[in-house]
Amino acid sequence: MATATATIDLNAIRQNWQKLRSMSSNDAAAVVKANAYGLGLKQVANALYAEGARIFFVATAEEGAELRSSLGKIPEIYFFSGHMVGDTELIRNYNLIPLINSVDQLSRHSELLKEKKFGVQLDTGMNRLGMEPKEWENVKELVLSLNPALIMSHLACADEPGHKMNANQLNTFRTLTDNVNIKKSLAATGGILLGPEYHFDLTRPGIGIYGCSPMRNCLPVLKIDIPVIQIREIKSGETVGYGNTWTAASKKRIATISAGYADGIFRVTGQKTRLYFEETGCPIVGRISMDLIGVDITGLNVEPNKLELINSKQTVDKIAEGAGTIGYEFLTSLGHRYNRNYTSVAK
Ligand SMILES: *Cc1c(COP(=O)(O)O)cnc(C)c1O
Repeated sequence: MATATATIDLNAIRQNWQKLRSMSSNDAAAVVKANAYGLGLKQVANALYAEGARIFFVATAEEGAELRSSLGKIPEIYFFSGHMVGDTELIRNYNLIPLINSVDQLSRHSELLKEKKFGVQLDTGMNRLGMEPKEWENVKELVLSLNPALIMSHLACADEPGHKMNANQLNTFRTLTDNVNIKKSLAATGGILLGPEYHFDLTRPGIGIYGCSPMRNCLPVLKIDIPVIQIREIKSGETVGYGNTWTAASKKRIATISAGYADGIFRVTGQKTRLYFEETGCPIVGRISMDLIGVDITGLNVEPNKLELINSKQTVDKIAEGAGTIGYEFLTSLGHRYNRNYTSVAK
């Protein structure tokens, strides 16, 4: 079989969430948008539910509907995009909680689903999603009379603890929700690390659950193994891959492995990324193709039948950094082709 394997450790996911929850002053939700950051919505959400998570956040109503089908009736499922045209049936049928982002969405919700729960998202400076402070002041009394389930906002710079934007947004959030006696939420993973004044009633960790920065001392969640399809000897002066971008300076042994940029291994990762056989990291040579990568295994004294891309020596954060990106983007770019293998050791 030439399909690469992504092994996802559900026990590590559970423990990472438990840690984020214990760091939170009050309750912690779990953010499982984008197919649980690419790792598999159903498996990840069920593991978190088994660990005690009862409040989940996703990006869209469609994601919420899929999550409801996996988790059953009990958990609260919020979605960030709010009540859009076309969402009404999903919200009703799957019992979802939209985060209302504008007066427009507020009118839609109160006209079409007056009896259905909702939350409010405020924009405290990120200028991405949520009601503007002015907008909020205009509708605050009306909204509070409708008894929202949650008031939340999102931090733009929480992964930089020293950034003054954090305190600014905290102050704005406090000002806008002063004397508001409704469940409040401001912090994602980065905000949890900023300290208790950012936690309010509910935190919303995502990336920390999946074992990536800015979370610290968390358990790695993902391993990737890639089968070797062929091994060949090449002579000094021969080239490997599209465009002849790499030329052997001496006799080399090249393994062709079965994964490529269609599997989220971005072409730019070539320079810094290694493929591991046990302790030895072997460099990528030539251009990364859609489905194949050339690896210089001259340094190995065995013929491996697979090589590791993600392991304890080369973490998601490290590979992402080598590609000029972040763990979030690497995880959500993995693609559909991996054989996703879920492990969980009984606790
Ligand atoms: C994605 C997201 C989160 C989770 O953020 P992490 O940095 O992954 O912990 C929380 N809140 C909102 C609004 C988000 O968009």
